[in-house]
Amino acid sequence: MLDDEKCLCGSGRIYGICCKPFSGMKIEDYKRERESKNYIKAYYIAIAMLTDYLVEIKKHTNRILKDNPAIGKFILHQDINALSELADRIFCSIPEGNTDNWGERFETIKKLVDAEEWKNECEYYQLLYYDLNNENGKFTEQIEAIAKNIKVDVHTDQRMLELLRSVILPTGELTKLLKLDDILIEKSEDSLMKLKYQFDKAIQLSLVSDNEGAKKIADEVIEKLEKGVPYTEIELYSQDITAQMYEMYYNFEPDRKWLDKALEIRKQMKVDNFNSSGKAKYFSDIAYVNWKLGNYEVAEQHFTTSLGYEENAFAQIYLLDCLVEQNKIKNLKEYLENVEFNTLGVDCIDFLIILGNAAIRLNDTSSIETLKGYLKEINIAVPYYKLCLKELELELEKKSGRIRKILGKLSPLKEYLILQPQFNGMGINLEKIIEDLKK
Ligand SMILES: [Zn+2]
Repeated sequence: MLDDEKCLCGSGRIYGICCKPFSGMKIEDYKRERESKNYIKAYYIAIAMLTDYLVEIKKHTNRILKDNPAIGKFILHQDINALSELADRIFCSIPEGNTDNWGERFETIKKLVDAEEWKNECEYYQLLYYDLNNENGKFTEQIEAIAKNIKVDVHTDQRMLELLRSVILPTGELTKLLKLDDILIEKSEDSLMKLKYQFDKAIQLSLVSDNEGAKKIADEVIEKLEKGVPYTEIELYSQDITAQMYEMYYNFEPDRKWLDKALEIRKQMKVDNFNSSGKAKYFSDIAYVNWKLGNYEVAEQHFTTSLGYEENAFAQIYLLDCLVEQNKIKNLKEYLENVEFNTLGVDCIDFLIILGNAAIRLNDTSSIETLKGYLKEINIAVPYYKLCLKELELELEKKSGRIRKILGKLSPLKEYLILQPQFNGMGINLEKIIEDLKK
């Protein structure tokens, strides 16, 4: 690319004084600058890596796309994954206060890389940008445009949908959320995706504690899935989505055959085609099913393999549980210190519950106190998660002294007492009294 051409990163400057000085830099350079807290330099290196990649795409991929659409499309998909990873990195390194017309940049890149998937990707980052910069008007405008125009197929960007959900979720407006699911169900051209979004709707309902409604929809989906799996053998995405549905259905009907089905599908997947993030996710998915089945040793092996490919909080958290279950851990302190609590997102609920169970099991009083502190900091609107955390809080209270003492004093009566998390207190188990009186 020539020095006086406009830079592909979309800054509007010419290449010679924009990304060229940083061209050819690698991830190690980026990491080094990050670690030295040279955030602005790290940011320019990340942008230049993105630009280098775009130059490659212009050189190779676009040509292959014309000459051999099948191979071209495959390579383009790999390219898009790589671009997303770079874009993620840039977003993590945006120095505070540096807005640097990011939305416009992605607008430029979007025009350059002529692919539907990348268009979704760009819209996602634009949204993130508006969100980070508190441009609420533009944010809402774009969300509405996306919801209206979204094309739904197996490749629909899951993160985009998660983002749409995350915008609606805090408002607690379930009708809006279900409406989004309905739009997606209606717009799905592909029968598997139609089922997937129906299933999402079921999960949404169960999260707001409409268990009956949720189970009904989930049953319908699984019945259709059982009649014949609508995926082709080599379609990794379809296989992954189908396995996910079986795994989730286990929560509606805890029969291990659903998890075995999921494992069966995952074993058929051609893992060599994944990049390292894909492999990390693949092994952590298999590990998680084994964790659910109580195969802690197998789960431990797979979580460890996953972490070998890429660090991820989910695998770290569940690996801890596998170790606790096998009595391989004595001290929770290092885990409390190693997992960065604030970066966990929804995983923080899993994290707290697993740590809580471990602390209770190991009778680790100081960790219990730390956890109680964390619980006070969390504010979650979803009723299902609220209930989970409330139950955990009560369990920790019981372990941490005060309630334990009270329960100790009441021990002769204890078997007639029940804890009622939803009313935040204790109650009397009348059923048990009546039962015993009948004896
Ligand atoms: Zn540039």
